[in-house]
Amino acid sequence: MSSALWLRPALAAQILDHARAEAPREACGLLIGRGGAVEAVVPARNAAEEPTRFFRLDERDLVHGMFDAERRGLALVGFYHSHPEGVPEPSPTDIAQSHYPDAAHVIAGLRGDPMLAAWRLRYGEAERLPLEVTELQPAELSQSANRKGVQTAVVIAALLALALMIALSLALLPPAPRIPVP
Ligand SMILES: [Zn+2]
Repeated sequence: MSSALWLRPALAAQILDHARAEAPREACGLLIGRGGAVEAVVPARNAAEEPTRFFRLDERDLVHGMFDAERRGLALVGFYHSHPEGVPEPSPTDIAQSHYPDAAHVIAGLRGDPMLAAWRLRYGEAERLPLEVTELQPAELSQSANRKGVQTAVVIAALLALALMIALSLALLPPAPRIPVP
Protein backbone atom coordinates (compact mmCIF):
# COMPACT_ATOMS: atom_id res chain seq x y z
CA MET A 1 0.00 0.00 0.00
CA SER A 2 1.37 3.38 -0.90
CA SER A 3 0.45 6.30 1.29
CA ALA A 4 0.15 9.69 -0.31
CA LEU A 5 2.22 12.74 0.47
CA TRP A 6 0.72 16.18 0.88
CA LEU A 7 2.42 19.54 0.30
CA ARG A 8 1.00 23.06 0.34
CA PRO A 9 1.64 24.91 -2.95
CA ALA A 10 3.96 27.33 -1.09
CA LEU A 11 6.14 24.41 0.09
CA ALA A 12 6.22 22.90 -3.40
CA ALA A 13 7.33 26.32 -4.68
CA GLN A 14 10.01 26.47 -1.97
CA ILE A 15 11.49 23.14 -3.16
CA LEU A 16 11.48 24.28 -6.80
CA ASP A 17 13.01 27.66 -5.88
CA HIS A 18 15.79 25.91 -3.94
CA ALA A 19 16.34 23.56 -6.90
CA ARG A 20 16.62 26.48 -9.35
CA ALA A 21 18.90 28.47 -7.02
CA GLU A 22 21.34 25.56 -6.62
CA ALA A 23 21.46 24.53 -10.30
CA PRO A 24 23.65 23.17 -11.83
CA ARG A 25 24.25 21.51 -8.44
CA GLU A 26 21.61 19.21 -6.97
CA ALA A 27 19.67 20.82 -4.12
CA CYS A 28 18.60 18.71 -1.14
CA GLY A 29 16.80 18.99 2.15
CA LEU A 30 14.42 17.51 4.69
CA LEU A 31 10.64 17.29 4.72
CA ILE A 32 9.22 17.46 8.20
CA GLY A 33 5.65 17.07 9.34
CA ARG A 34 3.28 14.36 10.49
CA GLY A 35 2.49 11.11 8.71
CA GLY A 36 2.18 11.98 5.03
CA ALA A 37 1.59 15.68 5.67
CA VAL A 38 4.61 17.90 5.09
CA GLU A 39 4.54 20.94 7.39
CA ALA A 40 7.93 22.42 6.57
CA VAL A 41 10.73 22.19 4.02
CA VAL A 42 14.21 22.47 5.54
CA PRO A 43 17.02 23.09 3.01
CA ALA A 44 20.35 21.37 3.62
CA ARG A 45 23.78 21.71 2.08
CA ASN A 46 24.75 19.16 -0.56
CA ALA A 47 27.96 17.53 0.71
CA ALA A 48 28.47 15.22 -2.27
CA GLU A 49 31.90 15.33 -3.93
CA GLU A 50 30.22 15.77 -7.30
CA PRO A 51 27.20 17.92 -6.41
CA THR A 52 26.27 18.37 -10.07
CA ARG A 53 25.64 14.64 -10.36
CA PHE A 54 24.79 13.45 -6.85
CA PHE A 55 23.53 14.66 -3.52
CA ARG A 56 24.40 13.83 0.05
CA LEU A 57 22.81 15.75 2.88
CA ASP A 58 25.39 17.49 5.01
CA GLU A 59 25.39 15.55 8.31
CA ARG A 60 25.37 18.67 10.49
CA ASP A 61 22.38 20.07 8.57
CA LEU A 62 20.66 16.71 8.89
CA VAL A 63 21.14 16.56 12.67
CA HIS A 64 20.17 20.23 12.98
CA GLY A 65 17.02 19.68 10.92
CA MET A 66 16.02 16.68 13.00
CA PHE A 67 16.38 18.57 16.27
CA ASP A 68 14.48 21.48 14.75
CA ALA A 69 11.64 19.08 13.85
CA GLU A 70 11.65 17.60 17.36
CA ARG A 71 11.50 21.06 18.90
CA ARG A 72 8.43 21.88 16.80
CA GLY A 73 6.75 18.60 17.71
CA LEU A 74 7.13 17.29 14.16
CA ALA A 75 8.79 14.23 12.68
CA LEU A 76 10.88 13.49 9.62
CA VAL A 77 8.56 12.66 6.73
CA GLY A 78 11.27 12.34 4.11
CA PHE A 79 13.79 14.11 1.94
CA TYR A 80 13.88 16.08 -1.28
CA HIS A 81 16.52 16.62 -3.90
CA SER A 82 16.69 17.99 -7.41
CA HIS A 83 17.69 16.80 -10.85
CA PRO A 84 18.88 20.09 -12.42
CA GLU A 85 18.83 18.67 -15.93
CA GLY A 86 16.60 15.69 -15.45
CA VAL A 87 13.13 14.40 -14.83
CA PRO A 88 11.69 13.80 -11.35
CA GLU A 89 12.44 10.08 -11.38
CA PRO A 90 14.93 8.37 -9.08
CA SER A 91 18.30 7.51 -10.58
CA PRO A 92 19.85 4.08 -9.96
CA THR A 93 22.12 5.84 -7.41
CA ASP A 94 19.13 7.37 -5.63
CA ILE A 95 17.62 3.91 -5.26
CA ALA A 96 20.88 2.23 -4.24
CA GLN A 97 21.76 4.90 -1.68
CA SER A 98 18.38 5.18 0.01
CA HIS A 99 18.85 3.86 3.52
CA TYR A 100 15.52 4.93 4.96
CA PRO A 101 12.84 2.51 3.76
CA ASP A 102 9.94 4.46 5.27
CA ALA A 103 10.96 7.91 4.13
CA ALA A 104 9.26 9.67 1.23
CA HIS A 105 11.56 11.14 -1.42
CA VAL A 106 10.42 14.15 -3.38
CA ILE A 107 12.40 14.78 -6.54
CA ALA A 108 12.34 18.08 -8.41
CA GLY A 109 13.04 17.65 -12.12
CA LEU A 110 14.02 20.88 -13.85
CA ARG A 111 14.20 19.61 -17.42
CA GLY A 112 11.41 21.24 -19.43
CA ASP A 113 8.58 22.28 -17.14
CA PRO A 114 9.83 21.97 -13.54
CA MET A 115 8.01 19.12 -11.85
CA LEU A 116 7.85 17.37 -8.51
CA ALA A 117 7.20 13.69 -7.92
CA ALA A 118 7.18 11.63 -4.74
CA TRP A 119 8.70 8.19 -4.34
CA ARG A 120 9.38 5.51 -1.84
CA LEU A 121 12.79 3.97 -2.40
CA ARG A 122 13.42 0.70 -0.66
CA TYR A 123 14.94 -2.70 -1.15
CA GLY A 124 16.32 -1.66 -4.52
CA GLU A 125 12.97 -0.58 -5.89
CA ALA A 126 11.19 2.69 -6.52
CA GLU A 127 7.48 3.05 -5.94
CA ARG A 128 5.73 6.24 -6.96
CA LEU A 129 3.62 7.86 -4.25
CA PRO A 130 0.59 10.01 -4.96
CA LEU A 131 1.65 13.63 -4.36
CA GLU A 132 -1.11 16.05 -3.41
CA VAL A 133 -0.23 19.72 -3.84
CA THR A 134 -3.26 21.52 -2.41
CA GLU A 135 -3.90 24.35 0.02
CA LEU A 136 -6.04 22.16 2.28
CA GLN A 137 -4.85 18.89 3.73
CA PRO A 138 -6.73 15.92 2.21
CA ALA A 139 -8.88 14.28 4.90
CA GLU A 140 -7.40 10.82 4.40
CA LEU A 141 -3.95 12.20 5.25
CA SER A 142 -4.82 13.84 8.54
CA GLN A 143 -3.64 10.98 10.72
CA SER A 144 -1.79 8.48 8.61
CA ALA A 145 1.16 6.28 9.49
CA ASN A 146 3.31 7.29 12.38
CA ARG A 147 6.87 7.64 11.11
CA LYS A 148 8.60 8.04 14.44
CA GLY A 149 10.71 5.00 13.58
CA VAL A 150 12.22 6.74 10.56
CA GLN A 151 13.21 9.71 12.66
CA THR A 152 15.06 7.66 15.25
CA ALA A 153 16.90 5.67 12.59
CA VAL A 154 17.95 8.86 10.79
CA VAL A 155 19.17 10.55 13.95
CA ILE A 156 21.28 7.53 14.82
CA ALA A 157 22.72 7.34 11.29
CA ALA A 158 23.46 11.07 11.27
CA LEU A 159 25.09 11.00 14.70
CA LEU A 160 27.25 8.06 13.64
CA ALA A 161 28.32 9.95 10.51
CA LEU A 162 29.10 12.99 12.64
CA ALA A 163 31.13 10.91 15.12
CA LEU A 164 33.05 9.38 12.22
CA MET A 165 33.79 12.83 10.82
CA ILE A 166 35.10 14.02 14.18
CA ALA A 167 37.20 10.85 14.60
CA LEU A 168 38.66 11.39 11.11
CA SER A 169 39.49 15.03 11.73
CA LEU A 170 41.21 14.09 15.02
CA ALA A 171 43.20 11.38 13.24
CA LEU A 172 44.34 13.98 10.71
CA LEU A 173 45.68 16.40 13.34
CA PRO A 174 49.44 16.87 13.27
CA PRO A 175 51.33 15.01 16.02
CA ALA A 176 51.82 16.83 19.31
CA PRO A 177 55.01 18.92 19.41
CA ARG A 178 57.94 17.40 21.27
CA ILE A 179 58.63 19.13 24.53
CA PRO A 180 62.34 19.93 24.74
CA VAL A 181 64.04 18.21 27.67
CA PRO A 182 66.31 20.61 29.58
ZN1 LIG B 1 18.50 11.88 -7.77
